[in-house]
Amino acid sequence: MSRPARIVVSRPLPPDVLARLGEHGSVEVLDVGDDERPTALRRRLAEAEALVCCVTERVDERLLEAAPALRVVANVAVGYDNIDVEAARRRGVTVTNTPDVLSETTAEFALALILATLRRVCEADRFVRSGRWQEWDPQLLVGHDLGGATVGIVGLGRIGGCLARRLRHGFGCRILYWGRRRCDWAERELDARRAEREELLSESRVVSLHLPLDDETRHWIGERELAAMRPDAVLINTARGGVVDEEALVQALRSERIWGAGLDVFANEPTVHDGLLEHPRVVLAPHIGSASERTRRRMAELAADNVIAVLTGQVPPTPVAGRQGDDRCASV
Ligand code: NAP
Repeated sequence: MSRPARIVVSRPLPPDVLARLGEHGSVEVLDVGDDERPTALRRRLAEAEALVCCVTERVDERLLEAAPALRVVANVAVGYDNIDVEAARRRGVTVTNTPDVLSETTAEFALALILATLRRVCEADRFVRSGRWQEWDPQLLVGHDLGGATVGIVGLGRIGGCLARRLRHGFGCRILYWGRRRCDWAERELDARRAEREELLSESRVVSLHLPLDDETRHWIGERELAAMRPDAVLINTARGGVVDEEALVQALRSERIWGAGLDVFANEPTVHDGLLEHPRVVLAPHIGSASERTRRRMAELAADNVIAVLTGQVPPTPVAGRQGDDRCASV
């Protein structure tokens, strides 16, 4: 009799999701600290058929080489810049992600960062806690309105689309977007207008990034782009840290070429550039865009569905197609 499939899970999932996976193989959850993680993962994958992993796991050629029996890598994330999809394809390993289930939650977090940055919520919180609040002052912590503002969405896909809807219907914002193709639905429903890069940057009060990270989008925001932005603009990044040249961002903030930033993702997570840590009008979050209880559960369930499908010879619900963004048109 053949042995049960081995399923390696890189971070804990809800117990019932693990139990469901357990009906299709023996499940091993990696229970080691971050330093030991890459070595432990490599060792455990030696005989594994399935890997359920997160953005923190780098699934590259070398790791795949060490996993000759692997049939599926199920990323518990929509972005898959942590995985060498081509190398996986060459080895016949299916790669899956968790699109859609996290779009609204991540868009809501982008909205939270926009409001927190424009209205200086974190500065206000630090001010009150420090005991510096002596009297009401009309000049105190004055910020900017979101209502009616022009917002530039870079990458009007699933998450960018959810955000655009909220901004248009909830705040009456004017929506500009930049992308490879026209989004008819957004032009129709939201009166959104497709703009060239320079135009979007120079007109938007808020620039919100929703591109996947790949060779084309790395440092999409650099020195030139920051110089084109309005001095009262805020940059919001819930996409991936690598989409922004962080050094250039720090310089732009220090020289007040832009007003502030709201960041959930960073180039070298969990390390954050000192220039960002020091700046009062930068709102920081530890990559929690999709972190609501309901959404994290749905992501885990979808990843499990993908693994079970591959192990039972079915087509997985959400395989990735190759280059990010190629798996779906942006008709949210
Ligand atoms: P999506 O639906 O694929 O949207 C991506 C958008 O970017 C699409 O409009 C796509 O346009 C565009 N795009 C892709 N590659 C491009 C390129 N090379 N040049 C120009 N435009 C490009 O993806 P999504 O579900 O909205 O997720 C977007 C990203 O958000 C993910 O990849 C992930 O990195 C990030 N994310 C972060 C968190 C968090 O916790 N902070 C949570 C979820 C997702 P086309 O129509 O031309 O393909």
